[in-house]
Amino acid sequence: MKNELADSSRREAGGTAIPERRMLIGGAWVASASGAWTEIESPGRRGTVLARVPRGSAEDADRAVAAARAALPGWRALHFKERQRALLRIADALEARAEELARLTALDTGNALRTQARPESQALVALFRYFAGVAGEFKGTVLPAGDDQLQYTRREPLGVVAGILPWNSPLNIAGMKMPAALAAGNTLILKAAEDAPLTILELAAIASDHLPPGVLNVVTGYGEEVGEALVSHPGVDKVSFTGSTEVGRHVAAIAGRRLAHLSLELGGKSPNIVFPDAAAPDRIDATVDGILLAMRFTRQGQSCTAGSRLLVHADVYDRVVAAVVEKARALRLGDPLDEATDMGSIISQKQYDAVLEYVADGKAQRGVRLALDGSALAPAGLDGFYMGPTVFAGVDNAWRIAREEIFGPVLVAIPWRTREEAIAMANDSHYGLAAYVWTRNINDALDTAHRIDSGWVQINQGGGQVVGQSYGGYKASGIGREFSLEGALESFTQIKQINVKIG
Ligand code: NAD
Repeated sequence: MKNELADSSRREAGGTAIPERRMLIGGAWVASASGAWTEIESPGRRGTVLARVPRGSAEDADRAVAAARAALPGWRALHFKERQRALLRIADALEARAEELARLTALDTGNALRTQARPESQALVALFRYFAGVAGEFKGTVLPAGDDQLQYTRREPLGVVAGILPWNSPLNIAGMKMPAALAAGNTLILKAAEDAPLTILELAAIASDHLPPGVLNVVTGYGEEVGEALVSHPGVDKVSFTGSTEVGRHVAAIAGRRLAHLSLELGGKSPNIVFPDAAAPDRIDATVDGILLAMRFTRQGQSCTAGSRLLVHADVYDRVVAAVVEKARALRLGDPLDEATDMGSIISQKQYDAVLEYVADGKAQRGVRLALDGSALAPAGLDGFYMGPTVFAGVDNAWRIAREEIFGPVLVAIPWRTREEAIAMANDSHYGLAAYVWTRNINDALDTAHRIDSGWVQINQGGGQVVGQSYGGYKASGIGREFSLEGALESFTQIKQINVKIG
């Protein structure tokens, strides 16, 4: 999808200049040191080049680290009220431009404006306000050690943080890192995903008006190049990575060798567990709406917390699967910018092909039933990576489509008989990011929630994270928590103990 460009004068076939978006380093908008560029195409409109961005390299990582280090002493020394004020100004500026950011998100990621992109840009504003509000909570304690002693702790910033971002909801993920890291007094380098960097550059353009130069830097380019250069850079104190488990392992090994601080938000294969009472005539509608939401069909299933394993009690299995299929089929696929669209485009040809490969693998399993074939739902006349909701029934939890993160609109339905069996199946996964439980029986709900090995369990609802909640993975879904205040304290500060003898 992306082509490397060495020549800054390249033009599109029609002769129109391709807009250029530069990186932010030390308060200046710069090209890469090598002069190379990559083109960014809109996934929902194949062939439409939105812009070209610098193809950053190790040299650019060096420049960004130098800028972030130079800005650190001044930023960390401020009274927290000054950082708070800057974050609140950024929130206001983002709010004023929220619609513009949402439209750019739809173009950049293929996510539908109404169902995904707009809520995402609004969530970003809320995250800046939240962390601005708690900026004074990055504080220490005093031990009652007697009148001749002052024994206190300071929560000091870690230093320079490198935030590595994925493409599936870039603003949201940046919002989970940026305001918390900055409120705690760190300086930051964001590495935008190569497939969707434009909203991150726009966020930086808005935010940098309210920050001293070098406090926020953004680099673009490939993970193996500028990304890895940041992870291995001795001037980066913390790596905050969100992405796939495979790349996360690699990043952890590199950061671990030099004992850098590290948080990993990785992949998932989360269970949606349906008890019989949730399929009663007066409940099934709400349950199925929630299952669709949890599955993140309207983000083309491209969500780490997608409830992509539907575990349903055998007594209501057929009824629930039929209702899921009926509602999923009614979702409207279309151009991401169209207000009527529920579900936009998959991010890239590579991702689209990977999803189709999983579908082919699922179809080849003995006894499987393709209850809804999403490839048949692609809208006519639109050239993008469109694929509708796909539902497999009669799935075995041991199959690849039930074990691996597909990161596409593919839901697999598996029946169970007892609560023990459902919990065992839910936990029979190397992932442990999220889970959804559907029942009003408090014992079933809480016993299941407590025994599931996941960092986040929702009962009778399927929506996304809310500002201030704890968020992060068990097992191969990650290490660390950054989203909540407690998570941010742990993830973006370190404690220094100071003991003073008085008198
Ligand atoms: P990815 O792992 O391919 O890439 C993520 C980021 O890492 C990109 O910016 C990429 O350029 C960079 N990268 C790649 N190789 C690197 C290297 N060697 N060194 C440093 N950086 C490198 O993931 P993706 O395809 O962009 O995103 C999808 C994945 O992200 C899914 O697995 C999804 O579950 C996960 N994800 C997790 C969360 C979460 O909060 N747990 C949120 C969103 C996405």
